[in-house]
Formats: sequence, structure tokens, C-alpha cells
Amino acid sequence: MHEFSLTDNLIDLACEEAFKAGIARLDKIIVQVGALSGISIDSIEFAFGILRDKSEITNTSELVIEKIPGTGICTKCGKEIELDRLFLYCPYCETTTVNITGGKEFILRSLEGKTEGENHG
Ligand SMILES: [Zn+2]
Repeated sequence: MHEFSLTDNLIDLACEEAFKAGIARLDKIIVQVGALSGISIDSIEFAFGILRDKSEITNTSELVIEKIPGTGICTKCGKEIELDRLFLYCPYCETTTVNITGGKEFILRSLEGKTEGENHG
């Protein structure tokens, strides 16, 4: 499963960033997933539930997923188009030459957690 290794890398990255920031425990890991990324959010959540236990930094973390809509620009008429799946088609001029400008993301957007010694919450 593709999503399993993506989530594994994501957790490694989150731990690395938390370590750099002096965060001992992450409350939230906020990720952006594009509509055209081909990534199944259900699978990411499933994998996260299993893989978060591999580190004490992440074993109580919550995964927050922000969905990014797919967008493209038609190379013929220049109009911006919303794409909800990987089907490149311009409804204005009916061409299929559309450049994808957004929606393929799989990004660690931000982390929330407590630094060591901090004692509120
Ligand atoms: Zn067009």
C-alpha cells in the first residue's frame, strides 16, 4: 500500500521537525492532501492509526487533513478550471490540454505540540 510508506515518511518528518523545535509530544499533525494527488485519505488515516505508535512524540497525536481542491489552467483559452479528478478537460473551449496548477500536494503543513518543560493543557 502506497499510503503506508507515505504516512511512514510523514511521521519521520514530523518527528524530525518536532525534535528541532524542542517539542516532546505532538498534539496535532496537520497535512494538506490535494484532490489530484491520487492519495486515499481513508488509507492515510488508517496507516496513521497504526504507525503513530512507533514514536513517543507521535503516539498520542491527532492527524488533521486539509483537502486542497484541484485546479488547472487551460493552455488554449487561459481560463482557470476546477478539477475534482485527474481528467483534464476545459469546459469553456472543450480542449484537453490543461496544465495542473494545484491539487497534487501531500504536504506537512504544520505541527502543534508542547515543548519540553511546558506545563499547560
Ligand atoms: Zn479552454
